[in-house]
Amino acid sequence: MEEFQKVYLQKMGSRIEAFRAAGSGLSDNFEESAISIRRLAHSLRGSGATYGFPKISELSAAVEEADDTTLGQSLEQLIDLLQTLYDETRTDLERILVVDDSDEIRLMLSVILQKQGYDVTTAETAQAGMDYLKTETFDLMILDLVLPDIDGRNFLIKLREDHRTATLPVLVLSAKNSPQIKAECFALGADDYFEKPLDPALLTTRVAVTLQRSRTLEKQTRYDHLTNLPNRAAFSENYDSQSKLSLREDTPLCLAMLDIDKFKKINDEYGHMVGDEALRHVATQIKENLRQSDYVARWGGEEFAVLLPSTLEEEGKAALTKALSSLNKQPFTTKMGLSISISFSGGVYQVKSGEDLEQALSQADALLYQAKAGGRNCIMSSGDEIELRPTRILLAEDDDLTAEFILHRLRKDGFEIDHFDRGDAALSAARKETYDLAIFDVKMPGMEGFELLQRTRSDSLNQNTPVIMLTSMGSEQDISRGLKLGANDYVLKPFSPMELMARIRRLLK
Ligand code: GH3
Ligand code: MG
Ligand code: MG
Repeated sequence: MEEFQKVYLQKMGSRIEAFRAAGSGLSDNFEESAISIRRLAHSLRGSGATYGFPKISELSAAVEEADDTTLGQSLEQLIDLLQTLYDETRTDLERILVVDDSDEIRLMLSVILQKQGYDVTTAETAQAGMDYLKTETFDLMILDLVLPDIDGRNFLIKLREDHRTATLPVLVLSAKNSPQIKAECFALGADDYFEKPLDPALLTTRVAVTLQRSRTLEKQTRYDHLTNLPNRAAFSENYDSQSKLSLREDTPLCLAMLDIDKFKKINDEYGHMVGDEALRHVATQIKENLRQSDYVARWGGEEFAVLLPSTLEEEGKAALTKALSSLNKQPFTTKMGLSISISFSGGVYQVKSGEDLEQALSQADALLYQAKAGGRNCIMSSGDEIELRPTRILLAEDDDLTAEFILHRLRKDGFEIDHFDRGDAALSAARKETYDLAIFDVKMPGMEGFELLQRTRSDSLNQNTPVIMLTSMGSEQDISRGLKLGANDYVLKPFSPMELMARIRRLLK
């Protein structure tokens, strides 16, 4: 979410209160309450869409135009939406939990910390504090040493033992001026120690410093050192919140997977150091050519994941194509002055509502694969996929395990396969349909592979279709016979999936 959107939503707290107050007035004083509800709704109707929240405008319009019988119901829907959005921005505020049994201290800390822009929750006893910590997350805790139910030091021990609060920054407040207690608190894991009476200015400064330090620590665990981009963990979290937002606001969301082309070659030719520099160069180029609201992360190795909010698939494709052509125009120059051209391939996928990251990723990955197979240095989207007829393969193989293996591997890459376990059945298929490629086993019931090959070449719709023969190890005469009859390639059994795929791709090009 953009900064200006956050600010807009943060102001929504008072609007929600005003709507609630006017809503509860509807039963006693309908006329006046209705006027005030419609006035409030009118102002939101104008601003919502401007700030990128069309749903706010839509529901506000519904409230403004509702007749007297449906006003209450429309209002409830609007309040629900505002509350959800508002709660979300509040989670962006840093949250502080104050545990102190003194009413004055709780009040004072609430006031001064809220004034600094923190979200403050207070608890009077250790038990109440623990209950909050079980269900909510905080960024910092201020803990009084003397509490009615448990000694603050024992509370500290419990906090550090629980993995959820083990790293939570804790500032201890103590009424006792004792170096021994102070030392003990630090030993038990306190991050700072204050004696009462408190100096509010000092306390807020130390709160800010402590939060800053823990943010830096968090940054280190969520960012990739090499490229300074968010890492996989951060990306996954961002995906979760963006996909929820897109669902709620009914806005499109695109996910893209990018992979640098032939990167291994760059490492091999120029060494890893240059490879690292190249990675940084690509990361910068991608980021510079996308919007501020787009989220670029290093997914791993030479792969980048990008999330593009409020973006349709065609728009996402256009944006990434622009980034790619900018990279093409800007060859990477090493510190030694070498100029190296770099490109990447990408798949862009518009996320369907409710899809989790894994589901969406497998779609983006499949498109990325197509971009690689299609010659690299390009971006593919599902729109392109529809235009592309799937590659159709005819497979004649009677051994069910071999067939299963080939089917599985090829289908994974999006090929469409007709499989027959008899040679004669495969021939009649070849007479009815045109295939992009055929794979024939040699020994088969119904008709052997060589006869099938010969008849496919002379009498079928597939006279020019590339054919790969599957032959057993050690039968060299099979190979020469196959090639004479017009086979384009052969694969020896047993074979590796990589070898088979490499030969298939070579023939399909
Ligand atoms: P393709 O176009 O098919 O993607 O070919 P490729 O060479 O890019 O793909 P492959 O997956 O075979 O090789 C990726 C290489 O990226 C291998 C690995 O050494 C290199 N790599 C991954 N992470 C880093 C890194 O942090 N620094 C450097 N220098 N190289 C990396
Ligand atoms: Mg790769
Ligand atoms: Mg690569």
